[in-house]
Amino acid sequence: MTTSDKISILPDILINKIAAGEVVERPFSVVKELVENSIDAEADEISITLRDGGKTYIEVADNGKGMTEDDLLLSFERHATSKIQNYDDLISIETMGFRGEALPSIASVSIVEAASRLKDNSEGSLLTIKGGVISGVQPTPLRQSTVIKVKSLFFNVPARRKFLKDAAKEYRYIYTYFKKLALSHPELNLKLVHNEKTIFDLRKEDIKDRISSVLNEVNKDSLIEVSNSIGQYSLSGFIGKKELARKGKDNQFLFINGRIVEDKIISYTVFHTFRNMIEHGYYPFYILFIDLPFSEIDVNVHPSKLTVKFTDELRVKKLIQEGVGRVLRESLSIYDLGINEGSSEEIAPAETATYSNQKVNNQIVSENIEKYKSEKKPDFLRPETLGARILNIQNEVIVSENIWQMHNKYIFIQVESGIMIIDQHVAHERILYEKAIKSFSKEKLPSQALLFPVNIELSFEDRLILKEITDYMNGLGFVLKEFGGNSFIIEETPLGIEVGDEKREVLDLIDNFKLYRKKKMGVIESVAASYSCKRAIKSGHSLTPDEMIELINDLFQCEFPHVCPHGRPVIIDLSLKELDKRFLRI
Ligand code: ADP
Ligand code: MG
Repeated sequence: MTTSDKISILPDILINKIAAGEVVERPFSVVKELVENSIDAEADEISITLRDGGKTYIEVADNGKGMTEDDLLLSFERHATSKIQNYDDLISIETMGFRGEALPSIASVSIVEAASRLKDNSEGSLLTIKGGVISGVQPTPLRQSTVIKVKSLFFNVPARRKFLKDAAKEYRYIYTYFKKLALSHPELNLKLVHNEKTIFDLRKEDIKDRISSVLNEVNKDSLIEVSNSIGQYSLSGFIGKKELARKGKDNQFLFINGRIVEDKIISYTVFHTFRNMIEHGYYPFYILFIDLPFSEIDVNVHPSKLTVKFTDELRVKKLIQEGVGRVLRESLSIYDLGINEGSSEEIAPAETATYSNQKVNNQIVSENIEKYKSEKKPDFLRPETLGARILNIQNEVIVSENIWQMHNKYIFIQVESGIMIIDQHVAHERILYEKAIKSFSKEKLPSQALLFPVNIELSFEDRLILKEITDYMNGLGFVLKEFGGNSFIIEETPLGIEVGDEKREVLDLIDNFKLYRKKKMGVIESVAASYSCKRAIKSGHSLTPDEMIELINDLFQCEFPHVCPHGRPVIIDLSLKELDKRFLRI
């Protein structure tokens, strides 16, 4: 390699080619930049035409403001932009573009034909540029306002061209982008044509219709509307019911101030809000729109503008947690799990905890009999059941006579719509888990003082863990004092722990805690899950009718009754419809 020791300013063409390295990665990036320009030009009709996944031909036409010939020429100059003028504009960007480098970058690595006219002129100008060098300008009649054609992308950068994938894959990128574009802007007429075939021809429509037009696998009934606002921050959109959850994240769409954004923090926040409600390994479906003042978001973080920075990240998180959390709680039955084919291994070994012996809570074993008598009675309730105990849960009436335990493991409940099956162990886990979480901040769980405090000797590592979680252990009812070296004294334990079991309980909690931590659960969730897993009734344990009623009752007092802390389903709803279908009754 030869270098000269003289410093010189690089020629524009070279600078543009270097910038193209960042802005123009593949045909998709060209499409994205051109479409963003059309949106910024206030077009409400944009059509994209491609050949060979955009490798040989990309055309974007719009009916926006258009440009004069002078502006058209200027638009291909580096850092020529009509969108910002000063630093104040930069910190409050309202348009998609602002860097003024897309057009010159694209033109430096392809053959461009750009035509534009002001909206109310009938004639425009056509500019031809090859590898960044203008080869001609001439008048041209023009139906649309602006049409930009990009041919032979990377014809002069073989290294880049080599990195492109085959046409089908490049097309895939654009196709995926188009879907996001269409979802983020239902108010636009949008068209996509590939190799002469019209793939989408969308007329403007409301967001729900747009979702159906673009994602034909999504049934409108599976969408739940979300909305929230905190000050000038607002959230709207949809989350999907269980049936829309997928093992990957392709079904997550996030738009911030109209921009398509991939933001780890937000996607994690949504995921986290769903957590414990959705089976392990699945990701929730969502289409969320966040709008906030332009000055509180920095889009100038990356040349491709896919990531953003928030001034007030906490507020954005709260916006989502509240908004999504609320609808999740309100529509408990949305996580109606259907029949689950997967097997669920038992997490903890059988042991002897019993479902608690507290009194059944009268307030919910409702004294609603009068009210119930006056209501329409489901057919399956015989008159004699009126003497039975009745629970009103979600829109179902549950009568104690219609509850059975099967194989000392599952609770079957006949409800109007069919059968509800509950896994007793995971149901109890969910109950204890939520109690544990509450005990850390609000109600400490009841404890019993030991007549003879127990000394427990730990490894160095376990001592550190126990110190880390002592406060939470306290909430659960353990009182532990450091006793020099690696030992602790257990002075109190939660109610119900048998004399002699204290040490084992603490050790098991530490071990479980370590396991959950390995799975990257937070400290609080790990302690709560360790506790609930350890203390929950196991399968194999027989329950009296009263205990079952109480368990069901407690379960439905939970915030998220449908999934256990590890993401396993707690309830399976088997509808009569489903049964009829299986028995070919239709
Ligand atoms: P930026 O979008 O960052 O300003 P670009 O290089 O993408 O930079 O575009 C440069 C300028 O060209 C824009 O600021 C805009 O004034 C003009 N322009 C580009 N595309 C269009 C279009 N489709 N309609 C009208 N004006 C356009
Ligand atoms: Mg632009």
